[in-house]
Amino acid sequence: LTNLTDEARIALDTLSSRASDLFSPTVRVGVTGLSRAGKTVFISAFVHNLIHGGRLPLFEAQKSGRISRALLEEQPDDAVPRFQYEDHIEALVNARTWPDSTRAISELRLTIEYESASGWNRMFSSGRLSVDIVDYPGEWLLDLPLLGKSYQEFSHDAFEMAALPVRVDLSEEWRRLALTADPDADADEMTARRLFESFAAYLQACKFDERALSTLPPGRFLMPGDLDGSPALTFAPLPGLEDSRPRPGSLHAMMERRYEAYKTHVVKPFFREHIAKLDRQIVLIDAMQALNSGPGAMADLERAVTEILACFRPGRGSLLTGLFARRIDRILVAATKADHLHHESHDRLQAIVRRLTERAAARANLSGAEVDVLAMAAVRATREGTVKQGRETLPVIIGTPLKGETIGGVTFDGETETAIFPGDLPAKADSVFKVGNANHQQDRNDPAIRIVRFRPPKLERTAEGVTLSLPHIRLDRALQFLIGDRLA
Ligand code: GDP
Repeated sequence: LTNLTDEARIALDTLSSRASDLFSPTVRVGVTGLSRAGKTVFISAFVHNLIHGGRLPLFEAQKSGRISRALLEEQPDDAVPRFQYEDHIEALVNARTWPDSTRAISELRLTIEYESASGWNRMFSSGRLSVDIVDYPGEWLLDLPLLGKSYQEFSHDAFEMAALPVRVDLSEEWRRLALTADPDADADEMTARRLFESFAAYLQACKFDERALSTLPPGRFLMPGDLDGSPALTFAPLPGLEDSRPRPGSLHAMMERRYEAYKTHVVKPFFREHIAKLDRQIVLIDAMQALNSGPGAMADLERAVTEILACFRPGRGSLLTGLFARRIDRILVAATKADHLHHESHDRLQAIVRRLTERAAARANLSGAEVDVLAMAAVRATREGTVKQGRETLPVIIGTPLKGETIGGVTFDGETETAIFPGDLPAKADSVFKVGNANHQQDRNDPAIRIVRFRPPKLERTAEGVTLSLPHIRLDRALQFLIGDRLA
């Protein structure tokens, strides 16, 4: 699975970063989640609230006035793209549009100047903490199991998954094409490309299918980053490879070489250079979308979270034997976009996420890291109100629907506010996981929650004319869990 160099490099990196940590304390926070989970919005709101002194009553260092300032500094890794914070804030705050989503890894360093809470700590601390925020697609994590698989096993598993009843229709075209390929034929670039394109199209179709199927590797086929079109990304499974050793110069040999190159040049370095260096991790999930699609989608989300958490297990697959996972000592699983619900449902959403995470962590055999869960909105696009309907008073949320959103036959222009009754989540978390539960078996026409895409909010101004930071729901709790102890 691995070789000494990988482990030695990780050990050296760990040692040197711990040594430099003594002089300039740093905490590396990984932010992940499947695409559209809310990573970009979370990081933008995280940084904006710290730089602009946001309202963060549950973030102790800020609440007690110990933070003197927070500023962006040059990031430590020159070879990693910078998280485009300014562009994202320009979109969120000035244009009031949602920023471009995460497509690859990026990084940002936020340095916090603070005063320690205890006199003892004050004597020894430099009063500065650098938070290196690393944003990366959750899809890439799902590649870890490939490191333990030969090309033959990968091919075999891919065909097996594709033939499962839930995927059989989506994979049909690719399977048909793959069965016409002769692994022993001479290697041919165009055949390789056609097979890759068809296989990748099937993986993409699974991702966007309304059944919300779990994500299948290779992760870069869904989120290529900057490797789009490179040979290491132009391969596909081949049929009928049992025990056959490839003939040199054959299609089989070419595909196998590329698969191995993908593992060596893409997957391993990603884990070694990025994941192995993280101290803390937040995993964002779009629980609301899954809740609306019913118990099948919830089970699928749980499977994805299990696979993601398994990547942070100590000694996973011996690739990173403890050295890596031991570093991550806190993991937060957070359902964001809670501003789509009335606050009465926030605790219910959190209970559902807790249920899902507990089971996922147990199945992933996760130990050694503290895991917490949270229902939050990194950016709160709505406020709350009530509407009278006959004798009833209904809790509603109020916001500006995005241009083109249609609610009850009315198409919105992106400027007009409206109130909607979002719906309630069930009081018992377990019921959303039960197939066949008449009360909560959702279908497209009868979703649990009415999800309207609202525009980001207008920033409030105080009576003194000071513009406040981006509003949120429980973002301060996330900050406290992720970095609060490092500012004690
Ligand atoms: P990424 O792919 O994980 O980077 O996802 P983004 O951060 O780009 O978020 C995807 C979309 O989800 C955004 O364009 C917003 O429409 C929505 N979204 C994300 N976070 C929030 C939030 O806190 N509140 C609301 N209302 N919408 C959000």
